[in-house]
Amino acid sequence: MATQPCDSCGMDVTIAGGIANIWTQEATVTGGMTLELVDGTEHFLCFDCIDRLPDDEDVTADHVRGL
Ligand SMILES: [Zn+2]
Repeated sequence: MATQPCDSCGMDVTIAGGIANIWTQEATVTGGMTLELVDGTEHFLCFDCIDRLPDDEDVTADHVRGL
């Protein structure tokens, strides 16, 4: 298990460690994911911040910074 800081709020997020997890049924607590935005940038965000992203418009780096 590893942690990675959320790009928006800076909170340490627990992420699934290792590619092996893809092939197991083991329940892994993962608190966030990397999003690729319409402007081509990638941001790792916790689910709290992902919840705050707008559903009805294209998400850009400005949204990530503005959360
Ligand atoms: Zn966050």
